[in-house]
Amino acid sequence: MDKVIAKFGGSSLADAAQIKKVKEIVSANKNIKYVVVSAAGKRNAQDFKVTDCLIKLYDVTQKIINCKQDEVGNLKKEKEELIDKLKQRHIEIVKDLQIDFDVVSEIDKILYEAENKNTVDYLSSRGEYLSAKIMSKYLDAKFVDMKNVIIFGNDKKVDYQVTYENIKKVLCDDEDNLKIIPGFYGSTKDGEIMTFSRGGSDITGALVARAVGASVYENWTDVSGVLFADPRIADDVRPIEYITYTEIRELSYMGASVLHEETLYPVSSASIPVHILNTNSPADKGTMIVSNIPIVVKRGVVTGVAGKKGFTTILLQKTLMNEEVGYMSRLLKIFEDEKISIEHCPTGIDTISVVVETKNIENKKELILDKIKRELKPDVLNIEDELSIIAIVGEGMIYHKRIIMDIFKTLYEADVTVRMIDQGSSGINVIVGVEDSDYEKAIKALSTLQNNK
Ligand code: ASP
Repeated sequence: MDKVIAKFGGSSLADAAQIKKVKEIVSANKNIKYVVVSAAGKRNAQDFKVTDCLIKLYDVTQKIINCKQDEVGNLKKEKEELIDKLKQRHIEIVKDLQIDFDVVSEIDKILYEAENKNTVDYLSSRGEYLSAKIMSKYLDAKFVDMKNVIIFGNDKKVDYQVTYENIKKVLCDDEDNLKIIPGFYGSTKDGEIMTFSRGGSDITGALVARAVGASVYENWTDVSGVLFADPRIADDVRPIEYITYTEIRELSYMGASVLHEETLYPVSSASIPVHILNTNSPADKGTMIVSNIPIVVKRGVVTGVAGKKGFTTILLQKTLMNEEVGYMSRLLKIFEDEKISIEHCPTGIDTISVVVETKNIENKKELILDKIKRELKPDVLNIEDELSIIAIVGEGMIYHKRIIMDIFKTLYEADVTVRMIDQGSSGINVIVGVEDSDYEKAIKALSTLQNNK
């Protein structure tokens, strides 16, 4: 029998109306056996996220502990206001759902515990805890805590093997009943609550999916899938129906915000598909993330486009550079020593460029340039900021004769000057560098490649 994991993000838990949609989705699919929930998110653009409120509460508490006597009054007032916001949000949800759950005493217990534990991880994890408690009442399902189940090692990384074993033990006993699981946290080996980084409920879902051998990991959000390009810049961009793990990784790395970056490892290593779906429009197809695209699926040549501003290029030119063995490695070592990671490194016979994120080199520019001059003695050394990098991604793309022409014709017609070109040897992407001021124009133009068959 198919086992489906459904993870619902903060906007799906934001209020009773959203939670009712979650119930409809879960009730409509008997294969959904495990539901992972986030903390309540924003109800509108001006609203607050419960996790943000909890983190602020922790910060104010620390300030109260460390502040001067005359500042205590204001800080205590701020703390009371945060507690009030937290309670009001959950009281409203429980009241509107008409469930029998004393959420105020639950929050009071949490606040008491928080004073003893005094860790940001404990307090910030309680949004997911409360959401899962509420959902288990509302869906009449079993609450399964991830404390002492998802285990973090001393390096703060998940101990996968132990975690999978633990999840199997707590979830696979009675497979027929629906389970509700709080996302975002687990604990250390000593039982202290520890969270993932922000957005980490996605990872909880992936760990559960992997441990129970799910047939699909449904990730319910407030968008109908991953879009071909950034919709804040380009018009009429469509959701990508099918995308591979490798392609999505390329797009996310280049700035497309999809899933938490640690989500894919547990599921991709077991080829469990991830289906991104929209709680507000559940009939939409969404995006299916898979290891291999099914043969019956017809896709365009390009799968998606994503990019980022804020890169710096350092260009070196030296006559007969190609004959100096080790030239490149000495150059890269300079960056390594300064712990600056290199994004791209296009080369010519007597030239080499290093592309890095500007924010990583900002305070070290002089130092790096001095070292390069001293150790590598280039004839020309140039540094330029304000470069944007854009990735045009699609597996098998390079086997289509026209695509390179289409990419550059599109950019030419949009009056974009291409400053750098890099084609990874895997053939999954073409990277172009354009000036920051041309970035939006380039993304808009390249978004039309969604129609390229
Ligand atoms: N509630 C956490 C956050 O806002 C985790 C999550 O929603 O995935 O980051």
